[in-house]
Amino acid sequence: TAFTNPPLDKVLLENINYARYATPTPVQKYSIPIVAAGRDLMACAQTGSGKTGGFLFPILSALYTGGPLPPPVDPNSGGYGRARKAYPAALILAPTRELVSQIHDEARKFCYRSWVRPAVVYGGADINQQLRQVERGCDLLSATPGRLVDLIERGRISLANIRYLVLDEADRMLDMGFEPQIRRIVQQEDMPDVQGRQTLMFSATFPRDIQILARDFMKDYVFLSV
Ligand code: AMP
Repeated sequence: TAFTNPPLDKVLLENINYARYATPTPVQKYSIPIVAAGRDLMACAQTGSGKTGGFLFPILSALYTGGPLPPPVDPNSGGYGRARKAYPAALILAPTRELVSQIHDEARKFCYRSWVRPAVVYGGADINQQLRQVERGCDLLSATPGRLVDLIERGRISLANIRYLVLDEADRMLDMGFEPQIRRIVQQEDMPDVQGRQTLMFSATFPRDIQILARDFMKDYVFLSV
């Protein structure tokens, strides 16, 4: 495989081979080393560019190599008569049901035979079924912003273990009016601060409101345009 710069985790490489991705697309070629080096990233890339792999591959490779973190000590989690709470390690926000479902489908392919359990939640669908799915395991969560706020407020998802935050199609999320929900999520009390997490933003365009989000949510980020 050509995914050798930097070398990716062996389990992930097997899954990439299995998906018949022979060579990285341009956005993958540039984003994988940047993310693997621990940098925050603002990437301007279109749908169809392979940007999903551009963030999933370096995140999954690092998670596989690093292994799971134990859930933090939380007096509200678990216990008799209490619903279990999920502690995802990576959170991907995207504007629509279609998009989060596509990301989740990619994630499922590349999480195969690893400890990482992907889950997806979006608005306009039965929340109870999504709650059961999240309870079964949720290490990498793809979510639309409104539905995620709902699950956090129900006390079913904690962001305390987040190591990677991805805002995909950030310009479309703002166009759809999701900025209050996004800010609410990122400003959750238990969400690691900008130093304690790695943040990646993908957007087709880079207007003023996206520049402000980038400034507010990221540290010393690399700007990539492909
Ligand atoms: P995306 O822009 O992430 O939505 O990806 C667009 C399409 O390209 C999806 O169907 C991916 O499965 C496919 N794809 C992404 N990366 C690669 C790659 N390195 N080689 C072949 N196909 C890819």
